[in-house]
Amino acid sequence: MFDLNTVKGIGEKTEKILNKLDIYNINDLVTYYPFRYDILKKTSLDDDKVIISGKIISEPLISYFNKMNRLSFRLDIKDSIINVIIFNRGFLKNNLQIGKIVTLIGKYEKKKNILLASDIKFYDIGNTTYIEPVYHLTKGLTNKSLNTIINNSLSNAHFTDYIPDIISNKYNFISKKESIFNIHNPNNFEILKKSITRTKYEELFLFMLKINALKYKNRKLNNGYKKDIDMNKIYEFIDSLPFKLTTDQLKALDDIFNDLKSDRRMNRLIQGDVGSGKTIVSIISMYALYLCNYQCALMAPTEILAKQHYENIINLFKPYNINICLLLGSTKKSEKKKIYEDIKNGNINIIIGTHSIIQEDIKYNNLGLVITDEQHRFGVNQRNSLRNKGNMPDVLYMSATPIPRTYALTIYGDMDISIIKSMPSGRKKIITEIYDTSKLKEVLYKIKSELDLNHQIYIVSPLIEGSEDENEDINKLEKKFKLAFKNYNIGILHGKLNTKEKEKVMNDFLNKKIDLLISTTVIEVGVDVKNASLIVIFDAYKFGLATLHQLRGRVGRNDFQSYCILISNKDSKRLEIMKDTNDGFILAEEDLKLRGYGDLFGVKQSGDMTFKLANLTKDYNMLIKAKDDSEKILNEIEKYPILKDILKETINMD
Ligand code: ADP
Ligand code: MG
Repeated sequence: MFDLNTVKGIGEKTEKILNKLDIYNINDLVTYYPFRYDILKKTSLDDDKVIISGKIISEPLISYFNKMNRLSFRLDIKDSIINVIIFNRGFLKNNLQIGKIVTLIGKYEKKKNILLASDIKFYDIGNTTYIEPVYHLTKGLTNKSLNTIINNSLSNAHFTDYIPDIISNKYNFISKKESIFNIHNPNNFEILKKSITRTKYEELFLFMLKINALKYKNRKLNNGYKKDIDMNKIYEFIDSLPFKLTTDQLKALDDIFNDLKSDRRMNRLIQGDVGSGKTIVSIISMYALYLCNYQCALMAPTEILAKQHYENIINLFKPYNINICLLLGSTKKSEKKKIYEDIKNGNINIIIGTHSIIQEDIKYNNLGLVITDEQHRFGVNQRNSLRNKGNMPDVLYMSATPIPRTYALTIYGDMDISIIKSMPSGRKKIITEIYDTSKLKEVLYKIKSELDLNHQIYIVSPLIEGSEDENEDINKLEKKFKLAFKNYNIGILHGKLNTKEKEKVMNDFLNKKIDLLISTTVIEVGVDVKNASLIVIFDAYKFGLATLHQLRGRVGRNDFQSYCILISNKDSKRLEIMKDTNDGFILAEEDLKLRGYGDLFGVKQSGDMTFKLANLTKDYNMLIKAKDDSEKILNEIEKYPILKDILKETINMD
């Protein structure tokens, strides 16, 4: 019933095209909302973009040349008659007869009295305003055909209205079905606004309901276990580190130890800018858990990062008798089985891995602490599933997403927050420079001078990971650089390499077998190579502030001067902002201003922050309302079985 092929107008071919837009069922289809609306209003022929209605008064003619076809006819627009030409719409010929009223959009050439139309509508625009939904499209799909398919599917769609009546009444919301219909077929602005508001509210309401439910669940599950920690040993360990902890690191640790020692279950987010040293805070926490005989699990978003944590931790824990394992999706089956066994019977103290460590079939022996690195990459559901492992483990999240505090309090409302703001001492401010593409030579000199200092360099190109051209483009870059830097070792890293290959490259870079690493954004997250002093980012304007900041954070991890070179042949406000500041919190605020919250600092990557319409900045007031409303509903959740089911499904709420 919800299959796409039950909709009139969707055959096998169209279904495949829709899949490209991530539309797999009717629900996806009806919630594939326009990204903007064009307002069509009758114009005069003098306007740049002409929109005009009239009557066809000559038999439409079609002519062919090359692979194009050309449709032409004469149009009576009341006070004059014009010639209309429209390319590649030959297929419309049968719909166009003498006497038919149409509206045309295009460019008017006065001298020739020709309207070169880019679009045609089969209605009279009259004196009213017509609001046209505009969708993101893909090859093989026109705006009109998509709108038609959506409308055809609306009758088959099943709309579960998640907003309780009591709230709907309060805000005078129209029904969900009506809203969705209007979003695709707006008659006037008033109804469109109402429809959008209602739809946004529903998204925010469901999101806040989950957050609040998690918060409630935490409170209810407050019966964590008090951990008895030998603080002297902790101080000894801290003293043995090759550096002094910063004030904020110590403060965060203080928060963590207070949580661990209380019988309240820890649920804490460590927010700190890239390079602020969150990892060591989590490692010290793990050591504490080891001391009192609990297992710890650390989950990272990528294999490279998990591996790096693993090596780092192995290194720091060398003097102790701690058993540490690395568990990845790519780990061999036989090996996995052995690891599972060892986790189950408690032979392993610390488990490091990707989301493979939350697999159903892993049974922990005595899991006391769960740590999620780069937490913004994981969604609420994953946030929850690791926490449900073991016996009420304490939970620590780390995030390099510096979100303004008010927002953090809302979207991470289920957590306590510690912020690491101060950077390790001795760090120099990374110098950021913008170069036009024509100045590549200067960049090459800069690279050379850093190589001469025996430093390492990242070269980043904005290729979409896994895209068709990825290999080709990156190979071209590689060739270029091999030619320019014959005496240096050059490595490449991209999404097409398998995990083993990626790891080898990363390890070679870490061990300085590679001087210059050419990469796509696979290096973006968390990678820590202290000897790297320069990152060069090609076509930098293509990246968002969040990514640029993360990438820049790969350098400046030592006491020598580091540089970030942004190459761009386009002006970009973002690049200027990057040049002006290194402070992630300021960048986050700027990012908010520029783009809104939709893709805030990479938050989008976490499954549940991908709102289709809502925008956490622009709709902040609504978010707060949704927060308050959802709290009230949660208090009487028994009355709302549909919502209860959702909570059960997504966060195992019972
Ligand atoms: P992030 O917060 O981005 O995850 P990391 O934890 O990877 O940052 O730390 C960045 C680098 O800084 C690491 O090489 C780490 O060893 C080092 N580091 C962490 N804390 C300090 C400190 N207090 N003094 C000097 N270096 C530190
Ligand atoms: Mg990190």
